[in-house]
Parts: sequence; C-alpha cells; structure tokens
Amino acid sequence: MKKLNLLFISLFFTAVLFIPVFAQDIHYWEDTKHIKVYIPSGHEDAQLMKRAFNAWETSSRRRIKFTYVTNPQDAQDIIVFKDVFSDGSIGKTTIRPTNVSVCTAEEKGRKSKGECEKTRVQNVTVITMASLNPYTMKKIPKGQLYHTALHEIGHSLGLNHSTDPKDVMYPTTVNFSMTGITANDLKALDKIYGW
Ligand SMILES: [Zn+2]
Repeated sequence: MKKLNLLFISLFFTAVLFIPVFAQDIHYWEDTKHIKVYIPSGHEDAQLMKRAFNAWETSSRRRIKFTYVTNPQDAQDIIVFKDVFSDGSIGKTTIRPTNVSVCTAEEKGRKSKGECEKTRVQNVTVITMASLNPYTMKKIPKGQLYHTALHEIGHSLGLNHSTDPKDVMYPTTVNFSMTGITANDLKALDKIYGW
C-alpha cells in the first residue's frame, strides 16, 4: 500500500508540476539591468518570489537586475497570486504585448509619459502562481513553489524548456526541491543576451 502511494505521489508531481506554459515566439528584455517587477505585497508568498528573483540576479552575476515597483502598470514583469489552477499547474507565464507611449526628446519634460504621441509595443510578462493543490486543496509545499518560481522567472527572461532534468528549466520534475539554477540554464541565458 505504501509503495503504491509513493508511486502515485511521484506520478502526480511529474504530471502537474509544469504544464507547458510557454509557446510564444522569442522574447527577451532590451535592458536586463532594470527589469521592473511588480509583486503584490502582503501576500504570504511575496518574499518567496523575491528570493527567486534574487537567485537569478546572483546567478547571472548581476547581469540581470530587477527593480521592484509598487504599481503593476509600471511593471514589465507582473506577479499574480491565485489559489488554484484547475489543470493542476503551479505556475504559468504568459507574454502580453502592450502598447507603451514613447516620448520624443522634444516632448520630454513637456508631457507626462502617457501623453506622448508615439507608441510602441513592449512585452509585459505575467507570472501567475497558485498556492493550493487543486486535488487536495492543501497548500503547495514551499520548496515546490520556490522551484516553480525560478522556472517561471526563467520563462519571463526568455528561456525555453531544457531537455536536461537537472536544469531548473526542465519542464517536469520529480525532484523539484533539489534543483536550482544550473550552469546549463545560465548558458541558455547567455545565448539570448550574448554576454
Ligand atoms: Zn515551463
């Protein structure tokens, strides 16, 4: 009976940890040193998310830096917390092309940002994190949440899935609490940004 339970548990995690979330074209940030992030403050997982963002900063040797903003409208990377995903996912990342106004040199100082004539499309990434397991309605263990946060932030930086189960960008994992950002994950990031 115990053995069967274990088997069930590992199958369950394999199946639900990362449902495919990233099927868009190539996405990357033009300026990796000032990525504006909005995390709803006061949520119990806000600190955990911040730790995951910090881990990417440190691992990239600060070639990536996040700036925290208090208004989601100012953010390029928006965190949304929800209770459950009905499909069993823990995290999802979507890319939302958004029109932002660009001020010309002449307009600068004269007009506030939203009033300038020209607009251009800039991506905003939205990372949605669940806090409950939809089958048991129990809280998702923090280690698993943290690992998922690292994975989803990786997507928001432009990374696709890795084929190596050790990488944080591997789409499904049984050993979810074991994996951090690997050299391989960083290599993939290098490739996008040409460091
Ligand atoms: Zn993924």
